[in-house]
Parts: sequence; structure tokens; C-alpha cells
Amino acid sequence: MRYNLPVLVVHGGAGSWQIADQDKAKLTISEALERGYYEFRKGSAIEAVVEAIYYMEESGVFDAGKGSVRNSAGYIEMDAGIMVGNTLQVGGIMGLREGSAIKKALEILFQNRHVLMIGSNYNSSNSNNSAIYESKVSGDTVGAVALDQHGNLVAGTSTGGIKGKLPGRVGDSPIPGAGYYATSNVAVSSTGIGEIILRILPAKEVDILVSLGFTIDDALRAVVNKVTKTFGKDNIGMIGLDKYGNASAYYNTKGMARGVISSDGVKKVYVFEGDI
Ligand code: ASP
Repeated sequence: MRYNLPVLVVHGGAGSWQIADQDKAKLTISEALERGYYEFRKGSAIEAVVEAIYYMEESGVFDAGKGSVRNSAGYIEMDAGIMVGNTLQVGGIMGLREGSAIKKALEILFQNRHVLMIGSNYNSSNSNNSAIYESKVSGDTVGAVALDQHGNLVAGTSTGGIKGKLPGRVGDSPIPGAGYYATSNVAVSSTGIGEIILRILPAKEVDILVSLGFTIDDALRAVVNKVTKTFGKDNIGMIGLDKYGNASAYYNTKGMARGVISSDGVKKVYVFEGDI
């Protein structure tokens, strides 16, 4: 569906969502949309994406930030990435043990020296995990894509990864082309099983399909279908936005928490059925 600029689309992960968790997830997505959208007034799509993701990280409702799941050794390791379409600037952080992964990723993007960093350099010595608690709903990775009034597209994703993962395991979320991707044509954020997503690079595939003339809707559907054909169901969900303000979401899981807000005054939030 096409929306007037600026547009912000967010997700709270694709997975086996429980009906009982729906309300809490929708409320948090809705607030993340508002917080992110507010940033368009003073900032750009970068701020909108970061603020929306940061709100979801802090909420503890999703598997990101304070809601991050623990690895097999009992501690959290977060991954995140962000990309700016017009400049192709990227920042990705892996294995961060405290703080905001999306903010660290943004720091790396602005430093403009490297694309990917591991978390150890960013951990402070007086670590305090008391604020960390595991996600209480069936929520998952969080992500956002935005298009601002200047036509700039930005994509970001943040996650605690997969429960019980080995220490040091890195998923798709900090990897451009896998967990997120942005160009001057599209912005995409993925969620699902990193070990599968990393083999397909679905966010990059969507960009290729759109540059070949596919609509964002067809591109997302084609890529999700391809993953389903190759690996079966229950492993991926994606949100996407093109340079005209067309937004879409597809997933092959039971549900995906997601929502959109735009200058048309539209705000839609779903976990199960519904077109954004
Ligand atoms: N894609 C994330 C990972 O594999 C997890 C998720 O999206 O739920 O780390």
C-alpha cells in the first residue's frame, strides 16, 4: 500500500505468536511508531528508525535490548545493524552484552571507519545486568524502515538472537543484505532464523528484485516464498518500503508484530492478519 511521506514501518518479530500476547505487542508497536514518527519533525529517517527500535529494545517486550533472550551460558549477546540508503553507510554491532545495540550500530555508522564491530570494545567494565529481563511475550527481533521527506530510506534491526544459542553465535541481524538493507530504492528489515536468513540474504534479494522492476510487495512475497520452498515454513518475516512510500510485510510464520504510520494520519498495527 502507498503512503504519503514521511512513512515509518516497524516490526516486533515473526514467530509463533500467542493470541494472549497480542495486546501487549500491539501496544508497544503502536507507541514505537509514535516515538519514531515524532523524530521526523526534527530529524531524518535515521532518527525515526533508531528511536522506534530503541523504544522496543527498552520495552522488554521483544527479544531485543532489555527483553533479549539468554545464550546457553546464561548471558545476553545482542546484535544490531542500520543502513542509510542514499549514502550506503552501514553500521553493525555483534555480541553486545549491555546497552542499546541499535545505538551502538548507529555510532559505528557515523564513525564511518568500519562496517561491523564485535561487542567487546563497547562493554564498560562496571557491567550491571540488573535491568535485563527476558522477553515475557512470544516477541522476537525488532526492526524498522523509514522514508523521510527528503526521500531518504533507512533500515535497522536489533535482536537478542536465538534462545540458548552458543556464546559468540551471530545471526543475520547485524549483517547487511541479511537482517536489513537500504539503498536509494528500498529499505528492508528481516526477522526469523538467522542460520537460514544468512544463506539467502533476503534483504539484498528484495533490493535486486525492486531494481529489476518488481513492486516491493511482489519482491517481499517472492523472497519469502523462495525461503519457504527451500527451507519450509516458520523461519522468516520481512518488512519493506520503497522510495515512493509503498510499504509491505510478508512472513511464513504464525504471526508477525508489525505496524505503519504515515503523514496520511494512518496508523495500523497487526500481529496476525492485516495489510500494512
Ligand atoms: N533473526 C534473529 C537471529 O537469528 C532472530 C529473530 O529474528 O528472531 O538472531
